[in-house]
Amino acid sequence: MSHTNDSVVAPDVSSSAASTPESIWQAVLGELELSISKANFTTWFKSTSILRYERGEAVILVPNMFTRNWLQNKYHKDISKALQNVTGERITKISYELHSQAEAVEEQHKKMEEEKLREEQSTRTSIPVPVATMRTPIGSPSIPNATTALNSKYSFENLVVGANNELAIAAARAVTKNPGTMYNPLFIYGGVGLGKTHLIQSIGNAILSADSQKKVVYVTCEKFTDDFIKYIQNSKGREGDSSVFKQKYRTADVLIIDDIQFLSGKERTQEEFFHTFNELHQNNRQVIITSDRPPKAILHLEDRLISRFEGGMIADISMPDFETRKAILRSKCAEKDISLPEDVADYIAQNVQSNVRELEGAVARVIAHCEMNGTEPTQDLAKSVLVSAGSAERRANINPKQILDIVSGFYNIEIDELLAKNRKKEVVWPRQIAMYLMRVEAKTSYPSIGQHIGGRDHTTAIHAFEKVSKLLEGDESLQQEIDILKQKLYL
Ligand code: ADP
Ligand code: MG
Repeated sequence: MSHTNDSVVAPDVSSSAASTPESIWQAVLGELELSISKANFTTWFKSTSILRYERGEAVILVPNMFTRNWLQNKYHKDISKALQNVTGERITKISYELHSQAEAVEEQHKKMEEEKLREEQSTRTSIPVPVATMRTPIGSPSIPNATTALNSKYSFENLVVGANNELAIAAARAVTKNPGTMYNPLFIYGGVGLGKTHLIQSIGNAILSADSQKKVVYVTCEKFTDDFIKYIQNSKGREGDSSVFKQKYRTADVLIIDDIQFLSGKERTQEEFFHTFNELHQNNRQVIITSDRPPKAILHLEDRLISRFEGGMIADISMPDFETRKAILRSKCAEKDISLPEDVADYIAQNVQSNVRELEGAVARVIAHCEMNGTEPTQDLAKSVLVSAGSAERRANINPKQILDIVSGFYNIEIDELLAKNRKKEVVWPRQIAMYLMRVEAKTSYPSIGQHIGGRDHTTAIHAFEKVSKLLEGDESLQQEIDILKQKLYL
């Protein structure tokens, strides 16, 4: 912990030889720990080490390729800066290598795959794989793909890769190749309409097309909850019926559950999901989860579930940048056999910044307008269509009431409670976020924010704004939380 002190004093080139690479890396970690959020630090740096450091060149060892990508893309500058501070040398090169343990694991996976293949080739019948004993034979014929609830229109092929989703896609592809082995669970999170459902359904479809015998179950969290409630109602006193629910979920090879944030506050369903999860996980079945926020930010979710979710691979999807939005636009137009002039595509990609679903909606509206009026799509037309639909100009019209709605929904707290004189921690924080958003997104004056938030004093609004702004500075997960709220606001 106090290692920073001795290593920092090394502006003299020769003295860096006195510190070992390990002590340099420890000092770098000490610096990084101070500058990034604890969650991110633990996720991305906990299992790193250093192989070599020599005159401004470092080789960092990472446990897997996702960490490598992540460090390269997101933390490269921070690492370089910290290294420079610690060594006093100009850092000219940092490379990231997988450490041997990780290689060994990957090697192991490869071997397992090869063995499996050999077994399958030598005999199609009964080599009893241990997990197979877990399956309860079902009387009915094997479940057709239709009942997996997967939509075949979602595939990796029609998912455009950008900086916003490339890690999530890489993780998804790894899971597709080796379900149940490497990243289990796979937890994907991001705001509304950014392609989470598309991505996880692509995994399901790809796994099925590689092996149609695999039992892939896709379910929304709401459907899971409904099924569970029905199961409880039906199974009262009738053991036979109760197994249908379990058979559906606990015998899946791949369970994909969408929008898990809706488990918030549902204690019994959480408990059931916990057992379902454990059973699948123990038997090396793949679990894939999406959420609109990271596990820790899901309110009223049991700690043991949070820690299960954090035990696998977590990847986020954010809003695509302009170039990626254009690529998505082109791909959607090609799918529908529509052509848009370059300047119109540019205009739409430039002005629809909330999410991909809205991007698709904007194209559809422009095209519909052209078809109805028998005109060609032009930039002016796109402009008028989008403005009247509210996409381009919506930012100006956000009002405090909408903010309260969004905040209330996101944190699962009644608006009344947000406005009440309630100082409970679960309420105070969302209330402060609401005030912050009113200031930033709706440009509401402090006195007016006070009014909207249950007749409070303007100083309360100022305090909330300042507090959230300050916290936002170094806290990436808070930044993400606010981004998600903003996205919901502009949907
Ligand atoms: P989410 O589940 O995150 O709310 P969806 O998966 O429903 O979002 O995506 C919304 C729409 O945007 C879908 O029609 C999806 O096909 C499309 N979409 C999102 N991201 C991409 C992408 N990168 N490439 C192509 N289409 C995308
Ligand atoms: Mg979705």
